[in-house]
Amino acid sequence: MNKCKKASNKCIFCQIVKKQIPALIIAKNNKAIALLDINPVSDGHTIIIPKKHYCDWQNTPPKVLFAIVKLSYKVIKILNKSLPIKPLGYNYVSNQGKIAGQQVFHFHLHIIPKYKENEGFKLDHGKIKVKKIGEIYKYLTI
Ligand SMILES: [Zn+2]
Repeated sequence: MNKCKKASNKCIFCQIVKKQIPALIIAKNNKAIALLDINPVSDGHTIIIPKKHYCDWQNTPPKVLFAIVKLSYKVIKILNKSLPIKPLGYNYVSNQGKIAGQQVFHFHLHIIPKYKENEGFKLDHGKIKVKKIGEIYKYLTI
C-alpha cells in the first residue's frame, strides 16, 4: 500500500471542501463534491472528491467510493444535458501514486468528456514492451 499523506491545511481539496478557496461545484451528495477541473483536458472535465481526506483510491473506504460512483451518474446526466456539445463518451480516471501521475494526494476521480478520438484523455497502447498476460497471471493469486 502506498504511504498515505494525512489531511493538512495545505491540501487544496480539503480547502475546497472547507470553502476556504473557491471552486466551480456542479453537484454534490453527503460524502462527495463534483467540481470542474482547473486544468481541463476537455470541455466539462470534472473531478469528484470525497469530503473527507483520503490520499488515494486504495485508501478510500468502499462506502465513500460508492458515494463517488453514485455522484458520477449525476455528473454524467448534467454534462449530457447541459454542455453546448454533447460528449460522445467519457474517460473515468484516477491516478494512484506520483509515478502514475497523481498530483494532489487527496483521492479524486476524473470524468473526462470525449468529443473526438484524438482529443481529451488518451491511452497510449503499443509502445512499451510488456510480458505476456499468461506469464503475469502466474504471479497473481486469488
Ligand atoms: Zn485533502
